[in-house]
Amino acid sequence: MSGKISLTVLECGVTALDFELVATGHPDKQASKHLSRGHPRLGEGQIAHPVYAYVIEHPGGRILVDTGFSDAARKDWKNEHYKGVMDYEPGDDGLFTQRLEQHGLKAGDFDDVIITHLHTDHAGNVPMFAATEARILLHEEELRGIVDVKGGMLRDDLLTMWGVTSPQGFTRKDWACLMPDRATTVFGDMEIYRGIWTVSLPGHTWGSIGVAVNLPHTGWVLLASDHIYLAATWGDPFVGNILNQDPSAWALSAVKCRRLQEKYDMRIFPGHDNKIIVPDKHEPFVLEDVRPSYD
Ligand SMILES: [Zn+2]
Repeated sequence: MSGKISLTVLECGVTALDFELVATGHPDKQASKHLSRGHPRLGEGQIAHPVYAYVIEHPGGRILVDTGFSDAARKDWKNEHYKGVMDYEPGDDGLFTQRLEQHGLKAGDFDDVIITHLHTDHAGNVPMFAATEARILLHEEELRGIVDVKGGMLRDDLLTMWGVTSPQGFTRKDWACLMPDRATTVFGDMEIYRGIWTVSLPGHTWGSIGVAVNLPHTGWVLLASDHIYLAATWGDPFVGNILNQDPSAWALSAVKCRRLQEKYDMRIFPGHDNKIIVPDKHEPFVLEDVRPSYD
């Protein structure tokens, strides 16, 4: 393995989603109009939000960040409500597993798999890595949350009112393979390899994390995952959404992202946008297109 650190972006198809759902109350309804292509069934007010995974090459190991939607996501999504939320469109060759193949990678080629949170568009292919030697990293609160709230012998929607009292977006098939001891938990901010940190960003879910990487040419990037859902989330103030489990924890974590950007001059990668947030000398920030790779 070379001594270089690099980041490869795997764009794994798109999901049709209401803009209002993911940038709730945003003053500019056109703020994400650049996300209007690539999905054949976009309704009024919807955006085609891309699904991402990332490969980080580091002298210490090869790291995968998130695992995309599973091929069976639509079948695995049991809830009758909000069928459209899971209207996943991988396109011709955009399934996560196809993207791996295109890069000549197999499940067994990774030393670490970091799951930013256990929503099914990030954890959809965890079982194929649970069957390898890879270390699987996620936040201890994410594991506790999923077990406490979604891991009971009765489905939680048999005990609660769907969509009101129960955090949604999780599929048991994604994470059951982690029980009881297949995951390695992180908390706080941890440097897992030199220049690669897991960063606690609770709020979107119990234990959402970002991944900060110090790249030789690009400098610091923060893969913020759904904590910064869209580029349109970023601003002063930030724009939250009704999918966030804990709005006040989310707000504190959003400010943490801003402080990190200020201190480390970080590029911020939102969870579901093809534009990233880049610090600028003259503006508070500018948006740049996501590139296939960074070094
Ligand atoms: Zn997501």
